[in-house]
Amino acid sequence: MFHGFAASSPEADWEAFEFDPGPLGYDEVEVEVEYCGICHSDLSMKKNEWGMTSYPFVGGHEVAGRIVALGEGVEGLEVGQRVGVGWTSASCLHCDQCLSGYQNRCLQAQGTIVGRHGGFADRVRAQAAWTIPIPEGLDSVDCGPLFCGGLTVFDPFVENNILPTARVAVVGIGGLGHMALKFARAWGCEVTALSTSPDKEEEARQMGAHHFLNSRDSEALAAAAGSFDMVLVTVNAPLDWDAYINTLRPGGKLHLVGAAEKITATVFPLILGQRSIGGSPTGGIVRAKEMIDFCARHTIKPLIETFPMSELNAAMEHLEAGKARYRIVLTPG
Ligand SMILES: [Zn+2]
Ligand SMILES: [Zn+2]
Repeated sequence: MFHGFAASSPEADWEAFEFDPGPLGYDEVEVEVEYCGICHSDLSMKKNEWGMTSYPFVGGHEVAGRIVALGEGVEGLEVGQRVGVGWTSASCLHCDQCLSGYQNRCLQAQGTIVGRHGGFADRVRAQAAWTIPIPEGLDSVDCGPLFCGGLTVFDPFVENNILPTARVAVVGIGGLGHMALKFARAWGCEVTALSTSPDKEEEARQMGAHHFLNSRDSEALAAAAGSFDMVLVTVNAPLDWDAYINTLRPGGKLHLVGAAEKITATVFPLILGQRSIGGSPTGGIVRAKEMIDFCARHTIKPLIETFPMSELNAAMEHLEAGKARYRIVLTPG
């Protein structure tokens, strides 16, 4: 039996829950959860905001732990090895998306907490390919958030061919944005943090920002016209989209990883400066390995607060109140 915490409905508290996972499947890996980050998606899923939650719901998709069992057919992984599991737990591995390295875009991909039980438990299972080894030099307690939030903000640098000479702005200094600042700095970019909270300036600079811009200051935003090769939006609130697009250099990209409901933008500046708007969902398997290796090389880790897993309700309230600085990780106990 696996022991975890489940919500029986969108409004319910998290309660102790045990379940029989059945036999370990072909090419599946069983991981002992040592730490599990909490992502805003865990909250959205608990509330069934995306209409794809099944109850009882066991959240948790930022797992760092150790392999305790290997299913038939698993190659290249060992019992006892430190690994992480993020948003995706399995994909078909044979469609065009999977074969071209975009397993995160596989139409058959299975979310770790979508139709299966996630990492708010003592054990979790994933397809071998999606079980990502943790390199030496990183503490497991820091790694969970890298496998979902970290990968989500790392991927746009590769996908948009961001060079070390680029100027990058990160909108929102929260669970995602603070990791994006660290990646951007280690990438070699000139980094600007945009936040509605001027009190975060000091911390944003410690995380790697060369510049800080109060995004409520429309004059400051206007003064940044034509500045950035990529504006990475990590917030899910509606923005003055034209004002942000105006800060892009010609050829620049407004890249969204925060799910604001809708964008309204004036078309002409997009045409004239060949600017573009896009988004991305986490990253593929090799990208996840590159991301975690990059973190080990540059000593990148999220700023975390820890709660014992038994205090999951308090941890979730802390997240929902917007108080997390900047990522919550559940620890054993
Ligand atoms: Zn997530
Ligand atoms: Zn596929």
